[in-house]
Amino acid sequence: MMLVVTSHNGLPGIAKAMQVLREGGTALDAVEAGIRLVELNEQDEGVGIGGLPNILGQVELDASIMDGRTLAAGAVGAVQGYAHPISIARRVMELTPHVMLVGEGANRFAAEMGFSRCDLPLEHARNKWQERLRDLFPAEELDALAERKELLPLVRELINTRLRQGTVNFLARDQYGDIACGVSTSGWPWKYPGRLGDSPVIGAGGYADNRYGAAACTGYGELSIRAGTARSIVLYMKMGFSVAEACWEAMRDLQPLLTASGGYINIVAMDRHGEPFGITSKPSGGHYLVMREDSHTPEERDAVVYQENTAGE
Ligand code: ASP
Repeated sequence: MMLVVTSHNGLPGIAKAMQVLREGGTALDAVEAGIRLVELNEQDEGVGIGGLPNILGQVELDASIMDGRTLAAGAVGAVQGYAHPISIARRVMELTPHVMLVGEGANRFAAEMGFSRCDLPLEHARNKWQERLRDLFPAEELDALAERKELLPLVRELINTRLRQGTVNFLARDQYGDIACGVSTSGWPWKYPGRLGDSPVIGAGGYADNRYGAAACTGYGELSIRAGTARSIVLYMKMGFSVAEACWEAMRDLQPLLTASGGYINIVAMDRHGEPFGITSKPSGGHYLVMREDSHTPEERDAVVYQENTAGE
């Protein structure tokens, strides 16, 4: 079964990803093509060119991609000035002896690979940044923020780990039975410069292994890094859990972290046959998207709401 599963905000790219699969493309091609369209969606303030900036008003993008055939993986973190971190991550995977490049090194690599710089997002991000900081600083002092020795008190004041932010997850299974996973984000708005969340961390924000399945996360990335969430889900499937049981178990692993922080995690996953599942720790629930080879349009599904101390599915 050819299939694409995405987080709720994958809509701009899911049909394209399915088209790539239908035309004989690989799961990796599908994931990259779908995410590229989300990265161009200016309305999405958590991904690509619409992404909100860090505390200094700079948009820093993170992404990762993983090939379930070989466990090859690539990631970039805190990239500035490029619209498609997912494609840079794919080049890291395919062309370098590394898995992850960050900051200046990642920017430099993007230039070396011939990606064109994109200055588009900055105006929107800058306005939002000015708006957010307006009550704390007069506009003329904002540009001098970078000179301040202390940023942490500001970051602490502005970041709200309970709020919904945004990241896009794409999982795909192609006609060859191969699975891939991709994740792209601008991370937490008003984050400390250089902060990486789970999205570029293989095994935290995303993981794919043809033999068992794939999983990816959105939400409070520091928690899925600490619990190794995406990798755990795939490992639980290896141990014989269904995709639903595996996700439920990973939420159970996260439970103390969720309770202590008040943050939330959403997960999309599929098993190796392409059975999809979505779960959220948010009591108000959430959605994810599924498109199968025989669907005309993406199907919006309710994520299962994880509740502590219940047995699950
Ligand atoms: N997981 C992302 C991060 O921590 C943010 C999000 O999905 O809201 O960077």
